[in-house]
Amino acid sequence: MEVSSDREYIYTSTELDRHEGQVIEELKANSQETIADPDAWLDEEIKRNMLLTTADAVINWARRSSMWTAICFPACCAFEFIAAEGPRFDLSRFGMEILRASPRQADLMITAGTLTWKMAPNVRRIYNQMPEPKWVIAMGSCAISGGIFRSSYSVVPGYNKIIPVDVYVPGCPPRPEGLIYGIQMLQKKISKARAVPDLQQIMSKGTSE
Ligand code: SF4
Repeated sequence: MEVSSDREYIYTSTELDRHEGQVIEELKANSQETIADPDAWLDEEIKRNMLLTTADAVINWARRSSMWTAICFPACCAFEFIAAEGPRFDLSRFGMEILRASPRQADLMITAGTLTWKMAPNVRRIYNQMPEPKWVIAMGSCAISGGIFRSSYSVVPGYNKIIPVDVYVPGCPPRPEGLIYGIQMLQKKISKARAVPDLQQIMSKGTSE
């Protein structure tokens, strides 16, 4: 573009037309390719990070990874459970370090100790107050069958006489490793459950009440 010498910084209309034409031609020549959408990576990210699974798998994963234990430790097996809760065995790894004093906030009962008939109604009441879904681990010989006190008139010969038991951990007492193995067995059991029908049953029960 040339500037008129006698009229400094003033363009003639011809020069303006020529300059405008040059600009348009340059833009046209450089605009043959389509400009990519700068946000196209968003679609790609979604594709890369999308995980397809079933409602059962997700719900069961959440349930088995956050079991909270109702306190029910009537005898000596309780100390092995306490050891399992400590830093050496670290039940926090399973998302279940929180012990609940209220059965309303618990979904797992670990029955660690000898149960007498005098205590049985209270244990069953605690179990009944736990919300669904809920599970029970019978820890130790006394919890499984009454153990060495089985023949006593006052001892319940196994918690499964008063509440349903999901997993049995043998021993007198079982060591924390045994309890952890039982917890892993329960987690496997939960992962196989049909969670969605459970929800449907609960919802239909709620609407019918
Ligand atoms: S199984 Fe053994 S350690 Fe456990 S409560 Fe019974 S007697 Fe005690």
